Amino acid sequence: MALSNDIKGVARGQEVDPDTETILASGLATPSKGSRGTIAVDMDDVLCQTNATIVHMHNELFDIQPPMKLDDFKNYLYWMNRGWGTPEETVGMVAKLYQGGLYMRAPPVPGAKEALHRLKELGYNLVIITARSENQREGTEDWIAEYLPDIFDEIHFTGAFQHLEPTKEEKEGHVARKAVVSHHKRSKAEIIHSTSSLFLIDDSSENAYDVSAATYPHEGPVKVLLFGDYPWNAVGHNPLTKTEMEGMTYHEKEQKGLLGEWEKLREKKIKEAWLPDGVRRVGDWKAVVRWVEEFDAGR
Ligand SMILES: [Mg+2]
Repeated sequence: MALSNDIKGVARGQEVDPDTETILASGLATPSKGSRGTIAVDMDDVLCQTNATIVHMHNELFDIQPPMKLDDFKNYLYWMNRGWGTPEETVGMVAKLYQGGLYMRAPPVPGAKEALHRLKELGYNLVIITARSENQREGTEDWIAEYLPDIFDEIHFTGAFQHLEPTKEEKEGHVARKAVVSHHKRSKAEIIHSTSSLFLIDDSSENAYDVSAATYPHEGPVKVLLFGDYPWNAVGHNPLTKTEMEGMTYHEKEQKGLLGEWEKLREKKIKEAWLPDGVRRVGDWKAVVRWVEEFDAGR
């Protein structure tokens, strides 16, 4: 069963935040509650293979030469990479990819389903924290119902929204106990705190830095498992050492003749392998399970 159409705006027995709205599930087959605490999981490129799917669709729709490869995604922000243009142009291109069916074309990340079931078996509750916004909720829920049903307690959409659109259809698989959307953009750290999550599993080194730098009461030294051996997270994000060149779009770097220098700096930073305190790398879902089993045994 899916999230119901009756939007109350208030979760039962919970504090009311006037800036957020909560949509409760109508189904009975909600996941059983674990007792070991909550783990927060990002969606894109942790649960579903978004960027790999974007590579295929980009080549179908925009036909750049040489064709785009996953290795072109050297930065989490697309317009920092080859093949996108200005931030405004990028937003338009991404919208076309979504119109072309990006949601349902992205397969799950290998091993995600088995690993998530193992974490539940260990007694952990799972919540999704995604930077997607409310207008992407229906596509997101369809995908979860199709590929990873009956696993998640909550989905938090951190992107801001203006008008809440109820989900139109009921879905076969249970998506989540509740979905929380917001009238203002929320940080992942804020939601990790409000859901009392033990740590976040996320593929973005920017998110890893932000969560590691947030000061909230926390059990243990690890706040983020930086997921995946991806080109866009090969460099640990550190705004304190970021150069002006690293803040430029791909086109700006190209026009100023800085692409070679950028690549050299990137290689140097990859070798340094710097990560913020509280962040650990996990290459894939098997590594996540190994890490959590060890963490669990030590509690
Ligand atoms: Mg992601």
